[in-house]
Amino acid sequence: MSRPELRLSSSAFRANIDAVRARVAPSTLMLVLKDDAYGHGLSWAVDAAVHAGIEWFGSYDIRTGLSVRRIAGGDARIFAWVTSTDEEIDHALMQRIDLGVGTLDYLRRIIARAEALGRSARVHLKIDTGLHRNGILPEDWAVAVAEAREAEHAGLLEFAGVWSHIAEASDADDDIAHEAFLDAVRVVRESGANPTALHLTASAASWWRPELRGTISRIGAFCYGIRSAEGPELDGIRPAASLVATVVDLDGDRVSIGIGSFDGLPSTLSGSRVGTPGGARTLVSVGHTASVVEGWPGARVGDEIVVFGAGERGDTSATTLAERIDTVGEEILTRLTPRVRRVVAD
Ligand SMILES: *Cc1c(COP(=O)(O)O)cnc(C)c1O
Repeated sequence: MSRPELRLSSSAFRANIDAVRARVAPSTLMLVLKDDAYGHGLSWAVDAAVHAGIEWFGSYDIRTGLSVRRIAGGDARIFAWVTSTDEEIDHALMQRIDLGVGTLDYLRRIIARAEALGRSARVHLKIDTGLHRNGILPEDWAVAVAEAREAEHAGLLEFAGVWSHIAEASDADDDIAHEAFLDAVRVVRESGANPTALHLTASAASWWRPELRGTISRIGAFCYGIRSAEGPELDGIRPAASLVATVVDLDGDRVSIGIGSFDGLPSTLSGSRVGTPGGARTLVSVGHTASVVEGWPGARVGDEIVVFGAGERGDTSATTLAERIDTVGEEILTRLTPRVRRVVAD
């Protein structure tokens, strides 16, 4: 093996899904798949998740949602929330993809496309609960709800859900957002609609703040075994992927390994600890296609180094590396380039 590998553990992924599902029940787990399943690879993740019994997928965009539909089959619920073109809306309607709707304009375009195609759109209206990142403003909410109801009566729309996104940065801010969310749900109920998919929380809030959970919890990171930066380890959760490189050269008391910044390893990670057959060692420097690691007795060309992942040695996680450079574990994974081979390990 000369190229580095991201070794995917379906059993670890599945165990994480089980742990998350047990933790958030009776809220239903929606597995979030954005950024190519957080760098793990979409088809592997969807396949493994289908085997784990996942029924709701969060695809981010419609194009990804169509891929999920092909892999997961006709019964899966697929939620795509990025504002999309009319052409993409048409695909979503044909493939029964649930649409997250954060602007009045997008709602109107979806209704127009549903009318043109003679289809009914599954819509989840998004209330802006303070993040100001795509979301219908509270002052426009009543109008949006009324227009959605009208389209529902015309058979053009199924009012499937109400949702929002919270920062998960402070409990107090999240509480305020939760109140705004509940107000929005109340307005929807008063209109006579009865959406069953109510969702607000992602990994951290779903795990730690049960009172904020809706009927669905949209979760990515924890299912992939990525804990929050500066957050604690989580019971029953471990990395679903390990990044492995091999020793390509020996140089005195140092070794050279076949991974570098061209593979997406940030050069600022030098100084981190990585797992070697001799125990944890320091990553001395990161080059373009090779990097230098402190040696150990008996090091040989071909030895495997675990840069991060669940292993017997070292157990450095993507988040532990990320904390060193003030970012999040997700970013360490999603920056890995296609030079890193994704290999299903078990
Ligand atoms: C990324 C994302 C999630 C999942 O967040 P995690 O912290 O990875 O669980 C949920 N909802 C939305 C809208 C997102 O963009």
